Parts: sequence; structure tokens; C-alpha cells
Amino acid sequence: MGSRRGVLALLLTAPAFGASYHFAALWDGDKLSRDVCLTTQGDKIQSIGSCSGSSVDLSRYTAIPGLIDAHTHLTYILDNPVNQSARSTAVVYLSQDNARKTLETGVTTVRNLGAADFADIAMRDLIDKGLMVGPRMFVSGYGLQITRGRTPTPATADGVAEVMRVVRQQVAAGADWIKMYGSTGSGRDVTGFETFTYEEMKAAVDAAHALGKRIAIHSYGPDGARNAVRAGTDSLEHAADMDDETISEMARRKIFYVPTIDHNRYYADNYKKLNYPPDAVTGLNDFIQRNLETARKAFRAGVRFAMGSDAVYTMFGENTRELGWFVKAGMTPEQALRSATTDAADLLDRNGSLGALRPGYFADVVAVEGNPLDNIDVVINKVRWVMKAGQVVVDKTK
Ligand SMILES: [Zn+2]
Repeated sequence: MGSRRGVLALLLTAPAFGASYHFAALWDGDKLSRDVCLTTQGDKIQSIGSCSGSSVDLSRYTAIPGLIDAHTHLTYILDNPVNQSARSTAVVYLSQDNARKTLETGVTTVRNLGAADFADIAMRDLIDKGLMVGPRMFVSGYGLQITRGRTPTPATADGVAEVMRVVRQQVAAGADWIKMYGSTGSGRDVTGFETFTYEEMKAAVDAAHALGKRIAIHSYGPDGARNAVRAGTDSLEHAADMDDETISEMARRKIFYVPTIDHNRYYADNYKKLNYPPDAVTGLNDFIQRNLETARKAFRAGVRFAMGSDAVYTMFGENTRELGWFVKAGMTPEQALRSATTDAADLLDRNGSLGALRPGYFADVVAVEGNPLDNIDVVINKVRWVMKAGQVVVDKTK
């Protein structure tokens, strides 16, 4: 593992000269072409077309755009070995492993929705400067939450005025997005009681938008989801059991749904490691079924989806398993793939630079073995090579 990290570090400091890469096929976010060469110049794609001259041989693979995971918690560490007094200081260092495992799934961009101590802002900046290996990050700082008995965080807020202050504080600290916990429910707790009121959600949405930022509202249950949608959130996270009216309002207002179905599968699979009682698994599995059913309804109603894993702890490396649930919810593999590429780029307001393979876009390219439009499993399990901003960050072709 040490030597692999060494190789990555060397690649990142190498001059970013242009190169040509030859693929069996290439899906650009819209259509599939056969026998294609993609050339890069610096961190961007220069051209896509027929091959001429020498190129790197990736002719056993299909190229797809670098994937976008729209819901992560890269700084959540399960077993932080550092003394309690210094634990938070070690988090950015320990999160490198999560970042590397994320790249290995073909995810080259994440929207990170909640971190303590602005560790996400530190990671984003270190990655942008090439000082840490990891996906491009859009980060939210602290997620807003109501007072709930525990020690307040710097983003605990009750009432409209406090909500506005805390939103502004995240933006001032360098957040790209705002995250708000609009209901209970997290980890083994699958309750979905609304927390913030409609007025508080509306204040958060307006305060974020006034500063040119977008907002993601978390709700496990239907009441918080209904008010988040009415308040005009840009994306709604989790949200099982949504009523038909809320779903059609989401479709009408083009609000993104990030159902994060797979994260409860991860919790159920790992309940021992996470110290959950065995009976928590029943609740998690029940939530998964309701979450899937809600996703099915929302997809049928024309709601736009973005793929979000809600990966925490040791779930990194499984970021794209969510796509399998999307196919179960009724999407074709190509529609599922859009939720992690072109559609997710729209969510991030980056549809001119991310989520597709076109000249002038970031050279974020994933080589997979097989046809991803026939079988989504090709994307989930057959990633062989990953380029981010013109630099090879994963190479399993040999
Ligand atoms: Zn989350």
C-alpha cells in the first residue's frame, strides 16, 4: 500500500502534458461511440474522435465520465486511534484513505454533506492544490441541526434568526453548499420526525440562495420532506414515504432526489462492527424497502435523481452501489449512469465542466470493463482505470 501511495504522489507532481488514450468505446453522457481516442491538454479534454498517431492503449475498455457522488461524509472515521484530546486534528490525515477508496470506484467528484471542525474545507483545499489525493470536493461545513439534548455544535440553530446566522457562518467559513438536518434519523436511528419548521427551512433556503449557494435538506420522514420541498430546497436527501403531492411538487420544481438507499444496507451488513443491537437490522431493512418504493414512485413521476452514497466510516469503496438500487427502482443502466454524471453535474451547477466527456470539460475519465449501458454492474464492480483532471489516479489495467 505504501508503494501505491508513492506512485500516486509522483503522478500528481508530474507536469500535466497532453496525451491520447484509445478506448474500445466511449459514453460521453449522451451517446456511445466505438473505437475512440480522447486527448487531454493539462487538466482538460482537448478532443474526442478517431485515432491518429500514438496513444495509450485502453482498447479493452469503455470510457465513461468521472462519476459524481452527491452525498458523502469523507471525514467520518470509525476507529480514530488518536488520543481523545487530539482526535479532531488527526481527521484530515485519516480521511485520505476514504478519499483514495472513493477514487477507486470511479468517483472523481463528491458533494460532502456534513463535517466537524471544517475538516471538509481543509480536504477540499488540499486536494485542489494537489497536496492530497482525492476526489474534487464540494463541501458544506457543519450541517444545521436543532437543539437535541446533546452538546450543541457550531451549527445548532433554533428559530429563523439563528438559522440565518448559521447559514451565513458556513458560507463565511468557505462552504460551497448548505446542509440542513430537517428530521431525526441517522445511522441505526430510522425515525423521521420533522425537526426544523417550514419557516426555519424557508429561512435557510433563502439565506443560502441570497449568497449564491445551494442547499440540501435531510429528511428521513415525509413531514420534513414536504416542508423542505415547499421551502424550495435544491436537493432532498433520504426521504422515505413521501406523499404523492410532495413527489409531484418535486418534479414540477425540478428538485433533485438523493435517496441514499444503499447506506442503510451498509449499516445492516456492518451492524456488529458499528456496535448496533441486532434488532436495529430489522428497522434498517424495513426503511430500505420504503426508501426503494418511494424512489420508484418518484422516478415514475419524473423527479430528477442524483446518486448519493451517504458513505461514512468503512463504506468508502462502495460509493456506487447505489446505482444498483436505482435500476431496481426502474431506471435503465443509462438513466442510472446519468444520475452520477450529467444530472449530478446539473445539481452541482457544473454542467459545463463536469459529468460529461466533451472538449473543454475536466479530463475526468473512468475506464470500465464491459458495456455499462447493458449492465450497471460494470460501473459498480469493473472500474479499471481512473483519470482526474488529466492525471491517472487509479490504474488496475496490468
Ligand atoms: Zn449524510
